[in-house]
Amino acid sequence: MAPLPGIFISHGSPMLALEPDAPAHRFLKGLSGLLERPTAILAVSAHWETPRPALSLAAQPRTIHDFRGFPPALFAMQYPAPGAPALAERAGALLAQAGLEVAYSGERGLDHGAWTPLSLAWPAADIPVTQLSVQPQLDAAHHAAVGAALRPLRDEGVLVLGSGSFSHNLYEFRGQDPAAPSPAWVTVFADWMRQALLEGRYDDLLAWERLAPEAKRNHPTPEHLWPLYTALGTGTPGKPARLLHSSTDRAILAMDAFAFA
Ligand code: ZN
Repeated sequence: MAPLPGIFISHGSPMLALEPDAPAHRFLKGLSGLLERPTAILAVSAHWETPRPALSLAAQPRTIHDFRGFPPALFAMQYPAPGAPALAERAGALLAQAGLEVAYSGERGLDHGAWTPLSLAWPAADIPVTQLSVQPQLDAAHHAAVGAALRPLRDEGVLVLGSGSFSHNLYEFRGQDPAAPSPAWVTVFADWMRQALLEGRYDDLLAWERLAPEAKRNHPTPEHLWPLYTALGTGTPGKPARLLHSSTDRAILAMDAFAFA
């Protein structure tokens, strides 16, 4: 079996799960068809923030509805995939080998950063899943180092799936006309990031806050970008990323997805 690529996807609004016509919904529906079936999935979610990398040991992770003000149909959704405690321990050992401090949670379930895309890509919920957290107070290099430490998992049939958002400014998201075209401050940022990824300019990407136009406006806080760097870290350094998907949700959420091999 060829190594699986590391993948980054943008999960967008929780409503994406209920919007079959959205381009990103259709892309995620087809994601499993682009890959060999993973033996287990390590989902890096922007919605789990901890001071150091944390992994879930839950044997049967519950579905966490970590949002408010959405329709009951979204709260009714469940993603009853089995947990992957053995994978969590394996990943933790790899991180420790790389000199990273690791924490474990016995009870952490799957938040919507993980279960929204997983419920579209693998609706049968029959592949074991564990979650890995992000560290909002640490930088891109840290999250890339986490990915690099996890690179061996790709040879073991494990899918490292980073789930965040290519752009993510929720202050400007509210009240946005869904049909409006993307404003320039979103497109200049997404274009710069996409180009750097497709050219394998990893040093520039690590300096994104300084180099990418409108970086701060697209990511007032960086947690939704960190899963991109962990996915990137699982790939061969400097190797161009492969663009799997590009669209925009409600004008200002860039929904790009990439593979790193
Ligand atoms: Zn999110």
